Amino acid sequence: MSLNFRDTSIAFKPQSTRSLQRSKWIFFILSNSYLVKIGKGLTMAAFKMRIPINYLILKTVFKQFCGGQTVTDSKSVISRNWRYNVGSILDYSVEGQIDELGFEETQKSIIETIDLAKNHSGVPLAVFKVTGLVQTTLLFKVSSGMDLTTDDLRSWGKGLERINKILAHAHSLDVPIMIDAEESWLQNAIDDIAKRGMELYNKKEVIVYNTIQCYKMGQLSILKKNIDRSAKKDYLYGVKLVRGAYMEKENTRSKELNYESPIQPSKYDTDKEFDECVKYILEVIGSPQKKKCLGLIIGTHNEESTILAASILKNLGWKNNEAPVWFAQLYGMSDNISFNLANNGYKTAKYLPFGPIKEVIPYLFRRAEENTSIEGQTGRELSLINQELHRRQTNKI
Ligand SMILES: Cc1cc2nc3c(=O)[nH]c(=O)nc-3n(C[C@H](O)[C@H](O)[C@H](O)COP(=O)(O)OP(=O)(O)OC[C@H]3O[C@@H](n4cnc5c(N)ncnc54)[C@H](O)[C@@H]3O)c2cc1C
Repeated sequence: MSLNFRDTSIAFKPQSTRSLQRSKWIFFILSNSYLVKIGKGLTMAAFKMRIPINYLILKTVFKQFCGGQTVTDSKSVISRNWRYNVGSILDYSVEGQIDELGFEETQKSIIETIDLAKNHSGVPLAVFKVTGLVQTTLLFKVSSGMDLTTDDLRSWGKGLERINKILAHAHSLDVPIMIDAEESWLQNAIDDIAKRGMELYNKKEVIVYNTIQCYKMGQLSILKKNIDRSAKKDYLYGVKLVRGAYMEKENTRSKELNYESPIQPSKYDTDKEFDECVKYILEVIGSPQKKKCLGLIIGTHNEESTILAASILKNLGWKNNEAPVWFAQLYGMSDNISFNLANNGYKTAKYLPFGPIKEVIPYLFRRAEENTSIEGQTGRELSLINQELHRRQTNKI
């Protein structure tokens, strides 16, 4: 069987016609940056004025992109995905916590996702963002090598403790866990945390995965250094490859503060870096006969990169369902990739955001703005949904 990402009957099999119609409207709005801006303004105003709009949000964007408000709420989506061999990665999407209480709450939720992963085969991996557990200002100071005050040192110690508790818990339950990549000015500290986590917990198998964002320049050589380092220090390297989600923020900041943007000069260069990284890692992984020395998660909605990885795996002699690679997409998007990959036996999972509705809203708007700015993404979603609605109408399904 070969991969066919145009097969909408597989892509949208779990979805009712009604839910597809809802998706169609949501992507129609997302395709228009003006409507997204208005929607954001109105939602924020409604929250400020305490106008009860939770129900409306729950039934629309939240339903499209999130599993639920809690781990328990998300179980029905997890089971539905799993019926089609698509895993779910529970992503506690509360952003911008600023105090100890918020960090503790985030830590508790992440631990809960690890426990669920241990007990549910439909949850193959866990994930977290360091900014949910440590103050962003501290991550910035540490990343830029600035001096820390006594208070900073105490908060930093607490943050590291929280992160270590999460990684140790994942390790004790054998649940692989990814550390998301964030803005470049926070990333040195995040990379160091991930390196330490891998040294501690990736001795026998890959538990901790760091993330590489290929929209930044020089990532292939960083990847090579990381792999060499893991061999020298005798641990297994785990990496999630993505293109990167903060391009506009990165470019704006570099202009404002007058330094050279770390972002690749063009989309073409980002795509090239991503594919070169995929090729390099798969070359290191090698054939099924070779001893496994690293773990790879390919986080992308890009069809060409996905097909490239699948064809290299085939050439290396891997059976689809045994290939040592996870493919991952975001819930509510690119089902044509996820469900067709899974239907062909590849290990596939969806990032499934969850959290209290009000707290997840900033995440949803970031996602909406990112979608609007990714040329072609929403158009592609819309055309696939229309194709499937038309197919169902023609076949009277
Ligand atoms: C499972 C999963 C996990 C993720 N985890 C993270 C994470 O930890 N950290 C993170 O930052 N992002 C993460 N993302 C988001 C990801 O980085 C991308 O923003 C998103 O997936 C879109 O890229 P793409 O590869 O899917 O496809 P495409 O649609 O082919 O690529 C769009 C991407 O290309 C890049 N790009 C677009 N235009 C230009 C340009 N002019 N110049 C240079 N580059 C350009 C940008 O990165 C843009 O997002 C994740 C995505 C997935 C699916």
